[in-house]
Amino acid sequence: MSTLAPTLYDLDRDALGAELAGQPRYRLDQVWHGLYEQLTDPQDLTTLPKGLRNEIAERIGTALKLVVRQASANGDTVKYLWELRDGARIETVLMIYPERVTVCISSQAGCAMACEFCATGQAGFSRHLSTGEIIEQVVRAGREARAMGRRLANVVYMGMGEPLANERAVWPSIERLHGAIGLSARHITVSTVGIVPGIRRLAERSLPVNLAVSLHAANDELRDRLVPINTRYPLADLIDACRYYLGVKHRRVSFEWAMIADVNDRPSDAAELARWCRRLRPAAHVNLIPLNPTPGTPMIGSSAAKVEAFRAMLESLGVNVTVRRNRGTDIDAACGQLAAGQPISLDAPRRRGRDGLSSGRAPSDTD
Ligand code: SAH
Repeated sequence: MSTLAPTLYDLDRDALGAELAGQPRYRLDQVWHGLYEQLTDPQDLTTLPKGLRNEIAERIGTALKLVVRQASANGDTVKYLWELRDGARIETVLMIYPERVTVCISSQAGCAMACEFCATGQAGFSRHLSTGEIIEQVVRAGREARAMGRRLANVVYMGMGEPLANERAVWPSIERLHGAIGLSARHITVSTVGIVPGIRRLAERSLPVNLAVSLHAANDELRDRLVPINTRYPLADLIDACRYYLGVKHRRVSFEWAMIADVNDRPSDAAELARWCRRLRPAAHVNLIPLNPTPGTPMIGSSAAKVEAFRAMLESLGVNVTVRRNRGTDIDAACGQLAAGQPISLDAPRRRGRDGLSSGRAPSDTD
């Protein structure tokens, strides 16, 4: 965990109340409402006396300093590069659809999972994000959506990092998004590389969030290679955990499948994937997305024809499947392209942060 002092969005309501000790009682409501319901910039909390506003800014402060804001050519995708107080950098992606607005947020600076095809994994792990650093990404993106006259209602934990390796910060952030910003758990998706104990703990938590699992391979031999954590949590255990999640939460479980030319786009891959999906029927859903190019691997995405053939085969085998449209590739904001400007090593074995997984297994996370 970060040892940095807490920022404004790290404080829960009680902690914020303690910071406002000596103020009239209604101040806490004003600040909380302003920060989370109105998504107001703390500097613009005009219901507060200016002196108090400045004091909050100086004493507590916020976490994210904007380095670059990039919009895709048609303006429907916005990528933010933020610098944190210790200099670590992360990215957030805001996606504006005609019918909804979604933000894709980071849960760690970097990632220790070392999936070869993912730019974040190629760059290695820096540190876990704090609860406030996670929440502030949603607040900042939601503020921009609001300025466009839109309401941000969907959050996906699909940016940099592995959310189930940082449960200690991620779970409180989900509770705050739900309890303070008012987002429905059904509109929050946690995506995991397949941390089995984390999935099981997520099933025990109070809110029924959606679970996405980055599968990408349907036999252990291939998955060990593509998604190295599979050697610790093999497919049979992973699918069992997904079944458990479904049974407890009755939420849709989806499998992410980045289609890689001549690696996982063969008919045999579709057949093996369909077999696993049947173990979860009727609720497993497969999302196909052609692999986005990243600097650290020669692997490339499957052709449109291969994607379509794979989709059709899955469907004929009774699997619910969607082909995802790629967004933000022109600004490196698409799945697997987030690296926050970190250099990516092209040949060296990828660094694994020493404690990239630690908080997920910390005893304090099991309560
Ligand atoms: N660590 C979590 C959260 C990241 S989500 C997880 O693995 O689920 C990012 C998604 O993009 C994951 O499904 C990941 O496997 C996928 N992805 C990574 N690199 C990609 C690439 N180059 N092209 C397409 N998808 C990619």
